[in-house]
Amino acid sequence: MNFNEIIGNSKIKQDLQEAIDNNTISHSYMFVGIDGIGKRLIAKEFARKILCLNKQDKNCNTCDSCIKFNSSNNPDYLEIYPDGNSIKIAQVRQMQEKVYQKPIVSNKKVFIIDDSEKMTEEAQNALLKTLEEPPEYMVIILITSNENKLLNTVKSRCIRINFIPLTQKEISTYASKNQINITSQNILEMCGGSIGNLEKINENIDSYNKLEQGVMKLIEEKLKNIVEVMDSFNILYESKDIIQDLLDYMTVLMYVHISKEKDYRQKFLNTIRQIEETKRRLYSNTNYDMSIDNLLFKVWEEFNENNSRS
Ligand SMILES: [Zn+2]
Repeated sequence: MNFNEIIGNSKIKQDLQEAIDNNTISHSYMFVGIDGIGKRLIAKEFARKILCLNKQDKNCNTCDSCIKFNSSNNPDYLEIYPDGNSIKIAQVRQMQEKVYQKPIVSNKKVFIIDDSEKMTEEAQNALLKTLEEPPEYMVIILITSNENKLLNTVKSRCIRINFIPLTQKEISTYASKNQINITSQNILEMCGGSIGNLEKINENIDSYNKLEQGVMKLIEEKLKNIVEVMDSFNILYESKDIIQDLLDYMTVLMYVHISKEKDYRQKFLNTIRQIEETKRRLYSNTNYDMSIDNLLFKVWEEFNENNSRS
């Protein structure tokens, strides 16, 4: 996959390409940003380019190094991931053994530490030695979506690259390239600029659509009584596995309509509060169906003029 096939973060791709072209590649980078915005893809393509033996051709993929890289068989490249919940000191030590062996195919060696914030403190301290005295051929890329868990001593040794969430237009482009049908503009809002989120949502797109239909009926006052409300929001009862996400979507839908209907601002705000309350209850394992019942009663109260408390 070449840089131009990876959507978003153009400036970063450009800077990394320049570092390669000008031979100003640093020994250690930290790629920071939320999940699902291309940090891993860009890190991996950056690695391929660093190791490539034919730098004239930006999209080479045909030299010995690229061929080995593309078949996950390049001895000068290593990715490490959490083993269970953490990246342990033993993993860092194993990596370090490889760090100090000279490159075989290329004239550099690249190491990617994914979810690097999951390194134990011990592991981070061990890594620090390598960051402080890197062999001249070494490049390490730490990837993280939660840099707070990385030691300052580690962070200060890395060139920090901040990845930004994708625009809705970029998400749409990705969707159409990957045959993902975006049924509602509000789905784009829900993605928060993350392709990872889009893919997660797409797995359950029918549930999101049903929820949106329910919310629209409610807002357009097409629901006559609580039975109809429960019926229209049946998807909430059926979606225990993704209920937190669906409730977040319900919040997004409420916010979208707040701006359109200023006079009704309060009932939307009250509903959002109820949704948040329900999310908390469900986290603390309150009876599932009862929590949804309760939410729908409260929502119905807000949106049914006759029952309205105000
Ligand atoms: Zn190559």
